[in-house]
Amino acid sequence: MATRTPLMAGNWKMNLNHLEAIAHVQKLAFALNDKDHDAVEVAVLPPFTDLRSVQTLVDGDKLKIRYGAQDISAHDSGAYTGEVSGAMLAKLNCTYVVIGHSERRQYHNETDELCNAKVKAAYKHGLTPILCVGEGLDVRKAGNQVAHTLAQVDGALQGVPAEQVASIVIAYEPVWAIGTGEVATPEDAQEVCGAIRGRLAELYDRETADAVRIQYGGSVKSGNVAAIMAQPDVDGALVGGASLDVDEFVKIVRFRD
Ligand code: PEP
Repeated sequence: MATRTPLMAGNWKMNLNHLEAIAHVQKLAFALNDKDHDAVEVAVLPPFTDLRSVQTLVDGDKLKIRYGAQDISAHDSGAYTGEVSGAMLAKLNCTYVVIGHSERRQYHNETDELCNAKVKAAYKHGLTPILCVGEGLDVRKAGNQVAHTLAQVDGALQGVPAEQVASIVIAYEPVWAIGTGEVATPEDAQEVCGAIRGRLAELYDRETADAVRIQYGGSVKSGNVAAIMAQPDVDGALVGGASLDVDEFVKIVRFRD
């Protein structure tokens, strides 16, 4: 079975300007510096306007912090006002790009079809997608969380070859748990993360499925992260609110301590 390095990624959403981003990443790097964190990968996902500042800081200091964007255009270039292309993100040395976050699905009507085009755009430009999937409260109450989430996975991965999918990160984020303080139980997280891995094995093969990192996201905090990370198919966390507090995020990264 593949060894998967856990990925703790901080989704800053629309918070922290570029000066605040510098202060935040410096504090984070300093806090992580006193001990090796090779066993856990750490990434920050700031707003577009912060990426250049974060790049300068991280690349210049060879800090072991990766970074990425919160969205990508499905297009390469052209008359798409307000959009940012994969080539632009690659030029900024981004490693990751979030695709299909529930806030984009909700406020910008992003469909699985668009997510699929964005996944392809990310790979075209050498970026690793963090593909977000997960059900709303109504779906959860009806007990359809697995079928709903797997349909999102199927849609977003249409025509994406196994050699690319092996490197993808899938974030299972039940919408009812995002920013609400209502975290899924470890068993809830495992149910859907395990089903996602099972689907990847069906769509591709066992080896590919075992290589993919599947994160849980939704009100992750230092107090609940260890129990969630103890689940066999959970390989990290996508952390929103708690990633804005450096001390709290560092505790999440060090969930094993
Ligand atoms: C997110 O934005 O992806 C998220 C999981 O947010 P929060 O941790 O605040 O629930």
